[in-house]
Amino acid sequence: MKEKSARVRGVYIGLGSNIEGPALQIQNAIIALNKIPGIKVLMDSGCFKSKPMGPKDQPDYLNAVVEIETALDAEALLASCQKIEQLQGRIKKRHWGERTIDLDILLYADQIITRKDLTVPHPGICSRDFVYMPLLKINPELQVPGKGMLKNIVESASEIESDFACQFVGNVE
Ligand code: AMP
Repeated sequence: MKEKSARVRGVYIGLGSNIEGPALQIQNAIIALNKIPGIKVLMDSGCFKSKPMGPKDQPDYLNAVVEIETALDAEALLASCQKIEQLQGRIKKRHWGERTIDLDILLYADQIITRKDLTVPHPGICSRDFVYMPLLKINPELQVPGKGMLKNIVESASEIESDFACQFVGNVE
């Protein structure tokens, strides 16, 4: 019999926070993800610190990536991520401004999704160091659907937006 909800692997979620205790925000969001039926967190990248991408008059960011296994489709996963943002009292004051917690679907296996509310692979994957560094830490051989090997794309540097001085600062508590 065909399994009703096959679990998909190679799904990666990016997390970022720069206010209200960023390390705790990231830790709580990972715990919350793991509690959702149909989601299992397999691995996390640890925490990376980076300079803000938008307005410079805001605190530095803490970023992390988790690899999950999930029975949810991409739409349901997006809804779950948004629920966690709401539950953690997400504050977003301005475009690319300070935020309590942000969850993005970076990759959903080999799927390429271009919907109004969902773009996967996430457009920032190959160009933002605070996204590709944690991704490569989890999986140095990661393939980006439609683009090739992430490490090769990053090495060729053709897509690099700018340097956010991203650096590893330690494990997720
Ligand atoms: P932000 O919270 O500023 O990163 O943007 C949130 C919006 O981006 C939401 O309205 C989502 O529908 C949309 N969005 C598009 N693609 C993605 C993605 N891959 N992951 C998360 N949100 C996405």
